[in-house]
Amino acid sequence: MENKVIPYGRQHITEEDIKVVIETLQSDYLTQGPKIKEFEDNFAQYVGANYAVALANGTAALHLCAMALDVNPGDKVITTPITFAASANCVRYCGGEVVFGDIDPDTYLLDINSVKKLLEASPKGTYKGIIPVDFAGRAVNLEAFKALADEYGLWIIEDACHAPGGFFNDTNGKEQWCGNGKFADLAIFSFHPVKHIASGEGGMVTTNDRELYGRLLKLRTHGIVKDDGQYTNSIDFAGGEDSYPLWYMEMQELGYNYRITDFQAALGNSQLQRADEGVQRRREIAKVYAQDFQGKNYVKGQSGIVKGHAHHLYVVEVSDRLGLYNYLREHKIFAQIHYIPCHLMPYYRQFGWKEGDLPHAENYYKHCISLPMYPTLTKEEQQFVITTIDEYYN
Ligand SMILES: *Cc1c(COP(=O)(O)O)cnc(C)c1O
Repeated sequence: MENKVIPYGRQHITEEDIKVVIETLQSDYLTQGPKIKEFEDNFAQYVGANYAVALANGTAALHLCAMALDVNPGDKVITTPITFAASANCVRYCGGEVVFGDIDPDTYLLDINSVKKLLEASPKGTYKGIIPVDFAGRAVNLEAFKALADEYGLWIIEDACHAPGGFFNDTNGKEQWCGNGKFADLAIFSFHPVKHIASGEGGMVTTNDRELYGRLLKLRTHGIVKDDGQYTNSIDFAGGEDSYPLWYMEMQELGYNYRITDFQAALGNSQLQRADEGVQRRREIAKVYAQDFQGKNYVKGQSGIVKGHAHHLYVVEVSDRLGLYNYLREHKIFAQIHYIPCHLMPYYRQFGWKEGDLPHAENYYKHCISLPMYPTLTKEEQQFVITTIDEYYN
């Protein structure tokens, strides 16, 4: 076992996955075939939303969400600095301004009080939206965020890339699944191989808003519509006599080619069938870590056991993080750091962000390390990870 690399996350491809991909490759469709709608319908049902739009990747999903919600140059949008850069970048693609709030040091999620402070410090209308992230798989309390957003007339994009299968309990005790569209206008997911469901590259937007759904479908394919009911040019112009000819289509706004392929959708759909199993196994792994680290003096904080946590990552905050990271690597355990705070990336520093702006996020970054967490991590491998950590500190 000493020789086998243990990454922090990895995909799990079964014979069944391979079979459905081959079948799709042998079908009439490589892109935009029936597998895409099937995947979308099943995914929407899985998270409890009305609509789903499959896309080329999670970043494309974020970009189209920002477009669909009309982010314009100068618009201010709030997000967390402890996330993958794409959560913030989507605002920049549309020329908007990213304002980072600080995190709650206990949950590692965007702190609603930090968001409140930002909103209270500016005239109403200054901010357009909030992008909370279900970081590490822990569901953001979107009921609370929605109340705040309504007070200030803001929209919400939930970045749920880490949290398919995650949920929080609302004030009535009801489970609210990440991406179910009850509180957020739009939610996004990624099917990059380190995420819960892998399709190579891939992404999804879920929503309960029919109008936004239509807009996303249009933006996914160049802003083109191919539906009589939506045309704005006259039948006469289109070359028809009393109806639009079959060849006719209209490009109505500037969209992109952000489509997923049919064989990726088939793979994603096949993986989706095992999503519950995967989350269950992740929760077991989390329990073992949580129990083992309880009371150990080198652990200052950890993801822990939280109801509804989807456990994309298992984060621990440790003393001498660099030493531990290197020691683990020497033993072929490839832990990872999630994340270097976005506001301190050179790209965002140019807008004036600097050290000291977001103390909780920066302090978290100094100590955090994500340990191996994926459904096929064996009990023995996890024990080896734990023993190696103990060895380092003893
Ligand atoms: C992976 C990820 C993304 C981007 O998804 P891609 O499919 O890699 O483009 C966005 N946000 C978060 C939080 C992610 O983890």
